[in-house]
Amino acid sequence: TNTEGLTSELSDLDKKHLIHPVAVPKHHASKGPKIIFSKGDGINVKDLNEHTYIDGVSMLWNVNVGHGKKELADVAHHQMSKMAYSSTFYGYGNEPAIRLAEKISRLTPGDLNTVFFTSGGSESNDTAFKLSRFYWQLKGFKDKRKIISLRRGYHGVTVSAQRATGIDAFRNFSGSTDPDIVNAKAHLTECELGDKTHPEYSGCIRSVIEELGADKIAAVIVEPIQGAGGVHVPPEGYLKAVRALCDEFNILLIADEVICGFGRTGEMFGVSHWDITPDLMSIAKGITSGYAQLGGVVMNDRVADTIKEYNDILPHGFTYSGHPTACAVGLKNIEIVEREGLVKNAYKMGKELEKGFTYLEEKHEFFTNPRTVGLLAGFDLMKDPVVNIPFDSSVQAAVSVVEECYQRGLLIRCFDFEPGMNIVAVAPPLIIQKQEIETIISILDEAMTAFSQKVKW
Ligand code: PLP
Repeated sequence: TNTEGLTSELSDLDKKHLIHPVAVPKHHASKGPKIIFSKGDGINVKDLNEHTYIDGVSMLWNVNVGHGKKELADVAHHQMSKMAYSSTFYGYGNEPAIRLAEKISRLTPGDLNTVFFTSGGSESNDTAFKLSRFYWQLKGFKDKRKIISLRRGYHGVTVSAQRATGIDAFRNFSGSTDPDIVNAKAHLTECELGDKTHPEYSGCIRSVIEELGADKIAAVIVEPIQGAGGVHVPPEGYLKAVRALCDEFNILLIADEVICGFGRTGEMFGVSHWDITPDLMSIAKGITSGYAQLGGVVMNDRVADTIKEYNDILPHGFTYSGHPTACAVGLKNIEIVEREGLVKNAYKMGKELEKGFTYLEEKHEFFTNPRTVGLLAGFDLMKDPVVNIPFDSSVQAAVSVVEECYQRGLLIRCFDFEPGMNIVAVAPPLIIQKQEIETIISILDEAMTAFSQKVKW
């Protein structure tokens, strides 16, 4: 048929002309794209042959309002027809960027009132690092340049964001460096509370500060819930302790809300679960639900007021900072999130997902450590979770379960970048309904049954 011809034509062209991000180039160059998407509707996506899949991770945790929202296409069309692009350099303005900045300042907690727009999450984090350093320069602390980040944090792929990322493959890729980024080796441990006898104390943020000296440190960056590092929820009290630590040593706190922001976790922002306010917040993804490329850094008054006193040109900005079409889409997207009560729905559907995970945990012995915060969810696969024995790496447990799901029409994602790590993430669009959650659970159930029958125990 026609669509099969088109699929094979595009596949050949793709093999020849594209290098895909986060894919195996050699494998890709011989096999071509796994799916060529053509349509999306709600939580579902289709390929060229009308084969339907449930988008179980909202593509890259960003399509929060779901696929096929015509309203967003309409607002983009309207803005593009009037003025698709204008610059915000040289003090030029446009209405969507101004209105969106004001809207964001009302949604974000505390006195996070001022926005610098970017076109994505990596740019937002690099911008947050630069603005933190610049803030300290303006305050007369030129040596406060270092940024502390965490193991398994993911902050993007521009050089500084890459170096802040605590996943070795990304952090070390191509040998690019930023000497002022320090990745703390500990991982979401309570030793930030000051317990120096804690086994991981030497790798935690507090000990890194003590070692380097607070006079060298501009900021600490954390995700409220780590996403691409494997969906790790911090222990109770952790983020409050990190906030207190930053205050104690006069260091800025950056919250990377690129995944958590705009309702994903059942609160508008991830930090709200632990009642803290960062000094800077990086946002992207859910701000437009992926309908346009947009990101930003939101600053509190302390940082913004200092920068606003600077009486020379600020030599930082992207061609697409404050892109009017992207900002118009962002505004409409937030309107949809509020009008459809999607933050609340994420919370409620997260509870349904949690119930489903409990069922799966009871049924499949190797399913363990489920966590759901709103619709940011994950679980581990272990050969024997009771005595903590991981699967052999040859088993590729998470990859296999994800593949079994794919064959049953569910797209989800896994992480296995550390030995013995088999983490699966589930993060559907926030519009999802109870019955659709049940479908996801029943596909996961079948997939795990199929996996356990194939694997050599
Ligand atoms: N920060 C976090 C927490 C992310 O999850 C991501 C992307 O997944 C980024 C930053 C990078 O964003 P982008 O890919 O838009 O540059």
